[in-house]
Amino acid sequence: MSRYGLMIDYDFCTGCHTCEVACQQEHDYPAGKCGIKLTKFEYETFEKLCIDYLPFPNDLCDLCKDRVAAGELPSCVKHCQAAVMKYGPVDELVKDLEERHKRVLFVPK
Ligand code: SF4
Ligand code: SF4
Repeated sequence: MSRYGLMIDYDFCTGCHTCEVACQQEHDYPAGKCGIKLTKFEYETFEKLCIDYLPFPNDLCDLCKDRVAAGELPSCVKHCQAAVMKYGPVDELVKDLEERHKRVLFVPK
């Protein structure tokens, strides 16, 4: 059976933190506890200063197994303002990685 994961196209992540809020509310986590954490990267190219945001799932992420069992998308995927998160079987998500750069795949345990 295929494992499931999250694919994030962080080229279009706006850094809005909605995925963090969605995860906290879904799991009723207290402040500071969350299954996903936004990280900001600043770097310079020859032409400009670049800022990227990458939401990074951690060991608290259970892929919203209760929601998924009820036929819903994981909370962060559903509420992502920029629709840059995708949930699915890893072997299908891997194909999405080939389409663009700045995509990452997370496979929680
Ligand atoms: S899939 Fe669910 S548990 Fe995992 S980071 Fe997203 S909201 Fe949190
Ligand atoms: S909700 Fe979507 S756009 Fe907002 S920080 Fe999370 S991944 Fe990025």
